[in-house]
Amino acid sequence: MNPLIAPPLPFDMKPRAREAVRDLKLQQFVGNATHLKDTQRGGIFGRDFGPDYDDLRTVARDTKQYALDHLDELLERFIASAEKSGAKVHAATTGREACDIALAIARAHSAQDRAMSCVKSKSMVTEEIGLLPAFEAAGIKTLETDLGEFILQIDGDAPSHIVTPMIHKDRVATAKSFVRELGARYTEDPTELTMIAREHMRGLYRSADIGVSGANFLLADEGAAVICTNEGNFDLSVGGPPVHIVFVGIEKLIRGARDLAPFLKLLARSGTAQPLTVYTSFVRGPRRAGEHGGPKEVHFVLVDAGRVGVLASEKRDLLRCIRCGACLNACPVYRKVGGHSYGSMYAGPIGAVLTPELERAQGNADAGLANYADLPRASSLCGACYEACPVKIDIPKFLMHDRARLRERGLSPKSEGHTLKLWRWLAERPAMFRLAIRAVRLHARMLGQREKTADGERSWLKSAPGPGAGWTQSRDLGVATGESFREWFANRGKTGGGS
Ligand code: SF4
Repeated sequence: MNPLIAPPLPFDMKPRAREAVRDLKLQQFVGNATHLKDTQRGGIFGRDFGPDYDDLRTVARDTKQYALDHLDELLERFIASAEKSGAKVHAATTGREACDIALAIARAHSAQDRAMSCVKSKSMVTEEIGLLPAFEAAGIKTLETDLGEFILQIDGDAPSHIVTPMIHKDRVATAKSFVRELGARYTEDPTELTMIAREHMRGLYRSADIGVSGANFLLADEGAAVICTNEGNFDLSVGGPPVHIVFVGIEKLIRGARDLAPFLKLLARSGTAQPLTVYTSFVRGPRRAGEHGGPKEVHFVLVDAGRVGVLASEKRDLLRCIRCGACLNACPVYRKVGGHSYGSMYAGPIGAVLTPELERAQGNADAGLANYADLPRASSLCGACYEACPVKIDIPKFLMHDRARLRERGLSPKSEGHTLKLWRWLAERPAMFRLAIRAVRLHARMLGQREKTADGERSWLKSAPGPGAGWTQSRDLGVATGESFREWFANRGKTGGGS
């Protein structure tokens, strides 16, 4: 498994975050891309749904919640429908089991005289279970066919975003990789770069023994998987090889095609600000008599890997996630530290709560949070992730929950406890509170005074002492302008503002 997404435990996020903040290219690429996607997301929902957007989110939340509440029943229905279509359905309790199932399928098709090969389209769950290292150890050569994943594969790199896996790289890095690894001529033109990758992959689709994919949704009524892509690589990886294996987390189940529309409307708009992904593909059973295309065998590997444990916990809402990536784009912390800082394939706000929970559900009860104690603190609790989430997962609530559990178990820094005690002491004494706030504002105004620099201007205080040093290492000290919240609250009746 790539150490970038499966680091030694307990995981220490801070060194990675510091390195990311110092990496100016990462700051530029991740900052620009996330800001753009987040702005475009707001724009397309405003344009297409206006005030009805929230109703659509509510429908999606309730539909997914219904599916989670009836998962047993939906699983049975899915298995019956898929098997009726001729597919084989396997259940894997752990990631290791899921890999072993795939290896057994591969062995059943192996030819003695040559090594096997696999074409794979993008799938988070295969990253989660470590499928590629398992295939590699068994001598099965796997080609990532999603363009971003392919570039990361030839670079020995790891995805850093759920939807845009190579968000931390640009076309210059890609051009150099193609020269080095594929012997291509140097070009930074995106169309030419795509053509180089396309030429490299085309023949491999035809010669591969196995195709592998994930799925965005599983339809219980139809026994089908739905795969949303923009590049058409899934259709080639299911159409070329004789065997196709779909790996999918059990939480992807919904009742059927009748429930799909709200999710398709929300998924592409939330992730990439598109009305729909370019391809919405369905896979059910193997090719039928008289059909010329499609695999001769289709396998669904339904992966638990901790999901049943999450379902039984107070964090069951997390399983509603449709992996759109919108909370990552909206998060001010993700924008600064990038995906590799989270030490998991699930980065950003959803990763900060899901990673420890999946770990907990698979290991001993407390290991998850202890191993990932930095993650719940990697948030400003601004609530942007909740506002961006198309299925209304209240991520800040779960971050607070985890912070409270860390405190109960003595895993929070001492300074946090002292700060909270001081805050409580002040909050119980309104006169002292007002005085303290005035003093803080006065100091902030003095220390944040602007001075001209070669690049424009910045605050006079470039390096704060003590615990404030972390702030000024990567940010300018801002000065709050306008009225304070208390002033606004006191004045709102007089000016007619507020509600
Ligand atoms: S938590 Fe919500 S916003 Fe974040 S990836 Fe999942 S569905 Fe998207």
